[in-house]
Amino acid sequence: MKILVIGAGPAGLIFASQMKQAQPGWDISIAEKNTKEEVLGWGVVLPGRPPRHPANPLSYLEQPELLNPQFIEEFKLVHRDQPNLMSTGVTLCGVERRGLVQALRAKCVAAGIDISYETPMQSREELEAGYDLVVVSNGVNHKSLELPPALAAQVDFGRNKYIWYGTTQLFDQMNLVFRSNDKGIFVGHAYKYSDKMSTFIVECSEQSYERAGLDNMTEREAAAWIASTFSAELGEHGLVSQPGQGWRNFMTLSHDLAYDGKFVLIGDALQSGHFSIGHGTTMAVVVAHLLVKTLATGPDTAAALRNFNERAVPLVQLFKEHANSSRRWFETVGDRIGLSNADLTISFDARRKDLPPLQDALMAALGYALGR
Ligand SMILES: Cc1cc2nc3c(=O)[nH]c(=O)nc-3n(C[C@H](O)[C@H](O)[C@H](O)COP(=O)(O)OP(=O)(O)OC[C@H]3O[C@@H](n4cnc5c(N)ncnc54)[C@H](O)[C@@H]3O)c2cc1C
Repeated sequence: MKILVIGAGPAGLIFASQMKQAQPGWDISIAEKNTKEEVLGWGVVLPGRPPRHPANPLSYLEQPELLNPQFIEEFKLVHRDQPNLMSTGVTLCGVERRGLVQALRAKCVAAGIDISYETPMQSREELEAGYDLVVVSNGVNHKSLELPPALAAQVDFGRNKYIWYGTTQLFDQMNLVFRSNDKGIFVGHAYKYSDKMSTFIVECSEQSYERAGLDNMTEREAAAWIASTFSAELGEHGLVSQPGQGWRNFMTLSHDLAYDGKFVLIGDALQSGHFSIGHGTTMAVVVAHLLVKTLATGPDTAAALRNFNERAVPLVQLFKEHANSSRRWFETVGDRIGLSNADLTISFDARRKDLPPLQDALMAALGYALGR
């Protein structure tokens, strides 16, 4: 079996390494668009403590401690400048995205999987002729690849503006900060992902963005303005953005079908979900495992892909509903900003309560994939 994985992010890397482990004789290679050094984003939050949690990609590394993961068990909601501190109920694991991706790449290379960087795009015909299976894990970069029409993405943009900053201020809890001023409401999502750095994501409505003049500022000016808005949390620590990773509207990419012919989608390429539920990488890991399991079960690839589709699509649709409910809660936070801290916390907690629990669905899928 000759497989090309397109995109060396968490989804493609977990798929490739686990598939190679299940079928050492298969020819698996990875094509990555960017350079070896270029990995976008700061830190992400993952479930549980490695190696015990199978949905945490660190559990698949020999020495996860080298990535300096940070374990977080408290949640802090700040509203009206008052903190509301509570337990997360579970252990969360903050980790640097670049370190995680580089470590997963090293694992693939050690397993004999070739990763080519700055790879020029091949046409659909070339891919079909060259491989038995093409695993598409190119994130939300759907325009970068020619896929069969049945796999055309549905694209939806969120109403809020957001930006993903890094900071040297260390946030020991999962922080959710609501800051209101004469320009509007600005929400900060912050947590540490190493003993030196934290992620600091900021979102606000388009109106607040414009009233604050963020649309006319340089990246540096905008970072300074946002840092002053959150000075109570950041102190003297500034905010850093990555080149080209400026303010944007969140892109939700969706599909009703996970495969067509020789092409199969995993990770964000199949379904992306708003960062406020922090499950994108977890989904990527679970869906990659599902694909490995279905392909390893028998020699009939078409039947395996049908089975994968039947299991993956309901799961990613549930993920989409959770992520969209959460995104909409933040987009309409102005309706609730008059609430007390305690009532805003209750409303935040309830924003996905009407949906079937995502965690149960994820663990059931993982249980099937890992034969547990
Ligand atoms: C602000 C923000 C915060 C987030 N926070 C969290 C969090 O806390 N926890 C969490 O679990 N998730 C989080 N996520 C989501 C998480 O980053 C993604 O869900 C996850 O990275 C998906 O992995 P992936 O491998 O599918 O895609 P990606 O990580 O996007 O990787 C795709 C790879 O494909 C490459 N590529 C693109 N096009 C091509 C092409 N044509 N050919 C070859 N290669 C290509 C890219 O360069 C990249 O390396 C966050 C996302 C955002 C935007």
